[in-house]
Amino acid sequence: MKTIGLIGGMSWESSVEYYRILNETTKAKLGGLHSAKCIIYSVDFAEVEALQRQDRWEEAARLMIAAGQSLESAGADFVVLCTNTMHKLADEIQSSIHIPLLHIADATAQKIKAAGLRKIGLLGTRFTMEHDFYKGRLIDRHGLEVITPDSPDREVVHRIIYDELVLGLVKQESRQQYIQIMEKLVQSGAEGIILGCTEIELLVHDGDSRVPLFPTTRIHAIAAVEYALDV
Ligand code: GLU
Repeated sequence: MKTIGLIGGMSWESSVEYYRILNETTKAKLGGLHSAKCIIYSVDFAEVEALQRQDRWEEAARLMIAAGQSLESAGADFVVLCTNTMHKLADEIQSSIHIPLLHIADATAQKIKAAGLRKIGLLGTRFTMEHDFYKGRLIDRHGLEVITPDSPDREVVHRIIYDELVLGLVKQESRQQYIQIMEKLVQSGAEGIILGCTEIELLVHDGDSRVPLFPTTRIHAIAAVEYALDV
């Protein structure tokens, strides 16, 4: 079994889910007392959030690279970056370490393609919905068509992530807002919806949309176990 290196803490609310799913999946696959071999480098999210908000991505990259290199020298066989947003820096991290980084968008795209879907809605932080690093990868590498909510709805999706979900606040009225926004994406032709922020699956679940949901924490963590176990 390979050792999984997790860059977590963004937020720890979702890193907890990664840890739980890694262990549950390893146990389900191997049985008995088996659990995931992993090392977690957990950052202070307040520092990261400030750098994101101020567009100080070079400094954020230095933090992420230091985390990746620490995991490598501690014995990780590959890296799992436990946030969609910080995959904006995936190339910088990957080129600074000698072990693979398992990209969250690739794991998610594989699930979408396996389900036979092509046109997909994307929810996430404004960085994930508006910058090119995530949508571009889904389109260019995986041939998907990606749609995002309109600008006022993107603002709502982003605000609920940073004001509530990363603080562990799960509110019924916010769930209703997400449900309405997802329905608009479906009316615009989305055949499925990526929950492209690792906390969104704490808020909405299967059944909250008419189309399949792709929860990136669950998908990424399971992909990590499959890679660790070579299955
Ligand atoms: N966990 C979130 C994500 O998947 C947002 C927190 C962050 O900015 O890293 O994008």
